[in-house]
Amino acid sequence: MKTCHVIHQDGKHRWLVVARDPSRPDYVIDTNEYLVLNGDAGLLCDPGGSEIFPEVFSAISAQVDPTCIREIFASHQDPDIISSLALWLQCNPALRCHVSWLWCGFIPHFGGAADTFLPIPDAGKQISLEGLTLEAIPAHYLHSSGNHHLYDPKARILFSGDVGAALLPPDETGLYVEDFDSHIRHAEKFHRRWMGSARARDQWCERVSSMEIDMLCPQHGAIYRGRNVARFIDWFAALDVGVLDD
Ligand code: FE
Repeated sequence: MKTCHVIHQDGKHRWLVVARDPSRPDYVIDTNEYLVLNGDAGLLCDPGGSEIFPEVFSAISAQVDPTCIREIFASHQDPDIISSLALWLQCNPALRCHVSWLWCGFIPHFGGAADTFLPIPDAGKQISLEGLTLEAIPAHYLHSSGNHHLYDPKARILFSGDVGAALLPPDETGLYVEDFDSHIRHAEKFHRRWMGSARARDQWCERVSSMEIDMLCPQHGAIYRGRNVARFIDWFAALDVGVLDD
């Protein structure tokens, strides 16, 4: 069962995470879904696959009215990111989906009409959620060729999609990374294989190093906070990526 936790609250400005579910069978990769709320307006980051939609929907419903979700941010095109789109559109046909322009002709195969999609240019863009400014940050080739992360400068939270992901054993259920050295062992193979470009990695590390980030929130695994954010960026900067392991 998935459960929804508040990870940031500043008045009516909140971040919720529908955390991974260690009881899931391991043939389906486990995911985190993040909901940004500003008053009555919600934006859902990487809502997940159609397979887990009922659990995500009920976990969110336990905290807030899911019809508050007006916008979706899709970091990229993968099935575990956005194949639930048609189901979310059944809840709210006026829902809008921000995604890289590169995928705007492909994702409609999961559902949506021409006016569902709000393309994100390669350089990123600002997204206003009832006056709260969020920033789509370029993260191309990490791992998808059209890929963005979402930064909330007010909450100092970076939703980092697959960057920072760790495939944790079922007995490691914590919301946050506590022991960085033991955690990062579960992230290494994933990043070496899925992150295909060292040049893109270098650009991303340089970009995010200059940002103020209290929490780095990946789509798989646990959340990095405090000094573990910089530790992760340093670790990633030094990793040999784009390689096949034996
Ligand atoms: Fe992916």
